[in-house]
Amino acid sequence: MDYSKELELIKSTEICKTCKNIVYGKGNFNSKIIFVGEAPGKNEDEQGIPFVGAAGKNLDNLLEKVGLSLNDIYITNILKCRPPENRNPSPEEIKMHTPYLIKQIKDMKPEVICSLGNYATKFFLADCNPEKMDKQPGITTLHGKVRSLEIDGMKIKLIPLFHPAAIIYNQKLKIEWEKDMEIVKKEVF
Ligand code: URA
Repeated sequence: MDYSKELELIKSTEICKTCKNIVYGKGNFNSKIIFVGEAPGKNEDEQGIPFVGAAGKNLDNLLEKVGLSLNDIYITNILKCRPPENRNPSPEEIKMHTPYLIKQIKDMKPEVICSLGNYATKFFLADCNPEKMDKQPGITTLHGKVRSLEIDGMKIKLIPLFHPAAIIYNQKLKIEWEKDMEIVKKEVF
């Protein structure tokens, strides 16, 4: 698994010069489900591990509630470096960082991609083209709906989920998340 070309693209972006660590992923690369979030935050940047801050702790709890753990999923982000002040990713950054993500998906060969929140969901719905992301519907209408995707000739199901950070602020979304995860489990187990 040679990621050197994809890594060069990441390293050419400004956010790679300002971040402390490149954050690749965690969990079980041999599992059938890949979760894709947005970008590392402050804690993730410091530790070089995704989802270790407040959103990550909430994700651990949410997974436990539906009987899953990090052994059942692999988790990564659209961007591998933290944007300063946690600003939104730019289309150019998405373009330069996502070849790495696509290669992760090709190597892992998951059955289901769970996109967490708007950015990741719009990226996949836009056929991995950041220029087309604006035109995609948001997570509120799409969560829990199964779609078939083709990524570089690979057929994969996409099931968008609310981002665990959003659920911290709106506990009503927790019930939706649990229902959506039952759909994910039905597809995979
Ligand atoms: N939010 C994300 O989308 N990813 C992380 O790694 C942490 C918080």
